[in-house]
Amino acid sequence: MNQVTYAFPPAARPSAVIHGSGGHFPIHRIYCVGQNYADHAREMGSDPQREPPFFFSKPADAYLLADGTAAVPTAVAYPSRTTDLQHEIELVVALGRGGSNIAVANAATHVFGFAVGVDLTRRDLQKIAKDRGRPWDTSKGFDQSAPVSAIHPVQQTGWPERGAIWLKVNGELRQQGNTQAMIWNISEIIAELSTLYCLLPGDLIFTGTPSGVGPVQRGDLLQGAVEGIATVAFRIE
Ligand code: MN
Repeated sequence: MNQVTYAFPPAARPSAVIHGSGGHFPIHRIYCVGQNYADHAREMGSDPQREPPFFFSKPADAYLLADGTAAVPTAVAYPSRTTDLQHEIELVVALGRGGSNIAVANAATHVFGFAVGVDLTRRDLQKIAKDRGRPWDTSKGFDQSAPVSAIHPVQQTGWPERGAIWLKVNGELRQQGNTQAMIWNISEIIAELSTLYCLLPGDLIFTGTPSGVGPVQRGDLLQGAVEGIATVAFRIE
């Protein structure tokens, strides 16, 4: 058998923590849905009646474990080249089965579990990218841009089609919504995304954020949750 000889040791595969099992969830890709809540689409200056949600992605190694039950909150470095780092609290879907052209009716069978994450965004760079029609990579896909709680298996959480989603900064409520307000629901997101990519076990999907996104500063403590799923917490340093 041919063994690959690498020029240097390959980077470790990013993996997420699975709640209660001690096991790890090997991350394949991180997909994100943009403007999946009408109130957030409007606060970003879009018309949710005319523009459906859309996808972008983050590199797998943008993942950072930031579980809300940790004794000491995870530290997230304030990223370079921005003065407008913003929070977006999101329900995160973890896939345990892949596929292409997945039917909405079958999508639930592809779900391994759920987590809560924050889609950290360099809003100033995103605005420049939007104005000039450029890619979003530098505004969305930077290092440590995806702090996420432990993944809770669907057998434990049930199906979070409805549940409060909120985020506090230093104890002050900044975002508050309900997952039932998503424009594309969980099954529809999986089905739609699977027409664009061959999904694989290990894919994480950020499902969009409700309104109330805003800036954070060094020293801020961010805490968020989706009711019945998990809590996420971290400090910006
Ligand atoms: Mn987002």
